[in-house]
Amino acid sequence: MNPLAAHARLKILSDSQELEFDLVIIGGGITGAGIALDAASRGMTVLLLEKVDFAFGTSSRSTKLIHGGLRYLKQLEFNLVREVGKERAILYQNARHLVRPEPMLLPVIIGGSLGKTTTALALWVYEWLAGVKVAERRKMLDRHQCLKKEPLLDSSIVRAGAIYTEYRTDDARLTISVCKTAVKYGARIVNHAEVTELIKENDLISGVRVLDRLSNQEFTIKAKCFVNAAGPWVDQIRKQDGSKQGKSLHLTKGVHLVIPFERLPVKQAAYFDSEDGRMIFAIPRGDITYLGTTDTNYTGVIDSPKVSGEDIQYLLKAANRIFPSINLNITDIQSAWAGLRPLIHEEGKNPSELSRKDELFISNSQLISIAGGKLTGFRVMAKRVTDKVVESLTKKTERKFQACFTQDIQLSGANFETEDELTEFHHQLFGEGKQVGISFKRISQWIDRYGKDANTVLEHAYTLWPDVEDKKLIPDLAEMYYSIQEEMSAHPADYFIRRTGQLYFQHTILEQSFDELYPWFVKFARLSEVDAAKYREEIWEEIKAINLLKNLS
Ligand code: FAD
Repeated sequence: MNPLAAHARLKILSDSQELEFDLVIIGGGITGAGIALDAASRGMTVLLLEKVDFAFGTSSRSTKLIHGGLRYLKQLEFNLVREVGKERAILYQNARHLVRPEPMLLPVIIGGSLGKTTTALALWVYEWLAGVKVAERRKMLDRHQCLKKEPLLDSSIVRAGAIYTEYRTDDARLTISVCKTAVKYGARIVNHAEVTELIKENDLISGVRVLDRLSNQEFTIKAKCFVNAAGPWVDQIRKQDGSKQGKSLHLTKGVHLVIPFERLPVKQAAYFDSEDGRMIFAIPRGDITYLGTTDTNYTGVIDSPKVSGEDIQYLLKAANRIFPSINLNITDIQSAWAGLRPLIHEEGKNPSELSRKDELFISNSQLISIAGGKLTGFRVMAKRVTDKVVESLTKKTERKFQACFTQDIQLSGANFETEDELTEFHHQLFGEGKQVGISFKRISQWIDRYGKDANTVLEHAYTLWPDVEDKKLIPDLAEMYYSIQEEMSAHPADYFIRRTGQLYFQHTILEQSFDELYPWFVKFARLSEVDAAKYREEIWEEIKAINLLKNLS
């Protein structure tokens, strides 16, 4: 049985009861996934438990950039800029299809946070610290050049500008790719598996109680070491452990709005000042442009942060100020998402001043908790945690483990050594896809999502061809089948929200095609009638919630 198939979940959990793992990881965001890969590749037996779905938390709700960390210069976090800059280069090498260079326009405006000279200086320091390649270094623009790059900018306030290079990604896909790679190294991963209790012997954690949220079955799993990588939920797990003392999390909410591209037709990504001095991104992505983000204190329910009317007004105002001719309003919003930053509390600091650095806490019961950090720095965070696990395991078992070598591991589907190889693969797959009517656009989308694994998606299209009467459904069905068989999509939300991002980025198409596609999901995932009806209700609630955004004011 494929260990990544949705049908494998219960068997993995029940078989796992017979073992004592070296490491159990609580949380399947990018942090937990990174630790699973590092630990498994160093030879540990690893089980990762995720209560909803991989990347359900913050790791599917970020700005989706692999940052060089320009904004951290403001907080004088030089080491952080150096570290994320280096990590970005490693990630590009190891996940070329998922981490793409994105030229970013930085307009210098009257009353903005930086002037022309300070922008040039900041970018110079940033590029030096982050080790930016010569070909990707900044280009300073005069007023005329800046307005030519982006004619939508308010010409009455633009004084100059710069182009520098960011990298964009798909955060949820990055997380699932890291999970898939961890599985190749022998890790076991299970979604919809919530850790409900920490079991202790002589005050040390020896096991966890796990609830499979889809079947309601419970399991007990033993391990020698436990890592709490629960992102915004880290303190809840520390509370269960009785170790929530000293430093604690400070959650801040960040919202993004998705606008149809024709309503915000930016010629390229831009990073601009809002009225309160914070910086906002506008990033074009296919048929849409997304805008973000806000940064406000959050004390509500962690499982379901909501977009408020205030969040919407703040972002629309910022966009309308810098691009005055577009005149965006609430009816232009196609969708939106809200995520929580799991930051470390610092007395007296406002949300945007809080450090994005990660921190480790090791409790008396030997629970290792990791909080803070960035998507971009996940590999090096994982290394720090896994080094601690090695220390602990070596004491307990006297076994030896390899040093970290994740910097040399290409992620699942990412085995492209050069840009030319990636281009070559596009050409090859276009040719093959044509024979079963798969469009250029769809093939490109598959390669962006799955890299070389797009081959397997295409194979499913070939297999489905004779049996599916309505041929126009084949691309969707091939991808859906792949997702259930190879990426553990067990609930429609796993597929429509995190594996493909359709809920946010193709909202209207999803709404129109859902009824046609859903029976196939039920069939491929072998759902019972009761589950099929329940899950349908749940995903439909998500679709409707997005439509209701337009009623907020
Ligand atoms: P999460 O992704 O939240 O993962 C934690 C997981 O633990 C969740 O999936 C949850 O379901 C699971 N869990 C919780 N409790 C349990 C339990 N009891 N049992 C099992 N599982 C459990 N970083 C960048 O580098 N670039 C960006 O552009 C960027 N933009 C951002 C924009 C916003 C608005 C925000 C909020 C953050 C952004 N970040 C960015 C930061 C980055 O997204 C986060 O640092 C990162 O995703 C955190 O990942 P995580 O795995 O620690 O947490």
